[in-house]
Amino acid sequence: MTSTISTRARLREVRYEIRGELARRARELEAQGRELIKLHIGNPGAFGFRAPEHLQAAVAARLPESDPYTHQQGMPAARDAVAAHYRRRGVAGASAEKVFVGNGVSELIDIALRALLNPGDEVLLPAPDYPLWSAATILNDGVPRYYACTADDGFLPDPAAIEALVTERTRALVVINPNNPTGASYPRALLERLVDIAARHGLVLMADEIYEDILYDGAAFQPLAPLAGEVPCVSFGGLSKVHRACGWRVGWALLSGDPVRGGDYHHAMDLLGALRLCANVPGQHAVEAALGGPDTIGALCAPGGRLYETRRAVVEACAASPWLRLHAPQGALYAFPQVVGAAAEGFDDHAFALELLENEGVLIVPGSSFNIARRDHFRITLLPEAELVREVFRRIERALDRHVSR
Ligand code: PLP
Repeated sequence: MTSTISTRARLREVRYEIRGELARRARELEAQGRELIKLHIGNPGAFGFRAPEHLQAAVAARLPESDPYTHQQGMPAARDAVAAHYRRRGVAGASAEKVFVGNGVSELIDIALRALLNPGDEVLLPAPDYPLWSAATILNDGVPRYYACTADDGFLPDPAAIEALVTERTRALVVINPNNPTGASYPRALLERLVDIAARHGLVLMADEIYEDILYDGAAFQPLAPLAGEVPCVSFGGLSKVHRACGWRVGWALLSGDPVRGGDYHHAMDLLGALRLCANVPGQHAVEAALGGPDTIGALCAPGGRLYETRRAVVEACAASPWLRLHAPQGALYAFPQVVGAAAEGFDDHAFALELLENEGVLIVPGSSFNIARRDHFRITLLPEAELVREVFRRIERALDRHVSR
């Protein structure tokens, strides 16, 4: 008798549609010879961006020394560079011992949650979220509790609503700033209120700041850790976005706050890091160059820069559309438009994304993939050239017109 493998039950609660069903369908269409415009992943390399040359040179020069495993928390030069980066950001106590280098922020998110959660523990997450946060919470036996960030409020959360979600099982409060998928950049006063909530309820703050420095139109980045002071706070950053080297799989996390309040959290993260041995070593060699070298992202986000001009094209296209409303992204690599007016009637984000793929050859991500109940948003990345994005919005408009006249 043959039996089938039964997989982990909680996987059925997990979604990661950025690389899911629609992306699979796109591959099928490409195999049939269709040419598609794929705006579903924040993958700079796929849009012609390269890691800055001084990062490439640092990796190439050190490749011959890259054979051994490093310490589980990362090689000293990389950890020193990350610690210095956070000291410059205002975290006076940042030291190499408190830095964990990982195979991307993705791995460190999993480690940080796995080291913290017992079954049934709750994690406060933004909705929409970057869905890895929900997935890692669920797969580490935690329970996501979502706080809403809506376009009406500039995608900023309401601290009182967050606090109302706190129970005796709540362990962590996650902040994604600048935000994926909404592009919101959180002001200092808001972050201070979140720190206050964490302090009063004994929560660990988790600040996913992988898009730090990707900011538009004068928006400022306020890191969370300097405001958190003694409150335990894990800050995440990496090479993938700001430094356009996502394939190198290098991220970092800084554990800040009062070590007494931190208890054995540091040890737990260290142990989990040891079990996976170490992060990709050639990539680690780029960290010092990335954090100690010249700014290479600012010009891309300033007028005339590639990201700035694409963002402008997206904002203009949405403003010109009777069917779209966009709270302009202030940071990160995405726009999250809402479908409005007659187009919102009977609109289903998944059905629309599929129709757009099949009939217009454009791949986007439906908004509900980011763990929100409403089905009237979609996400596109700001990485392509502005001209390509203008063409994409012509096709989106056509598809929305068809939906309206149905
Ligand atoms: N966090 C956010 C908000 C992201 O958007 C991403 C990737 O898109 C990650 C974390 C994971 O980044 P990586 O694992 O490449 O460092």
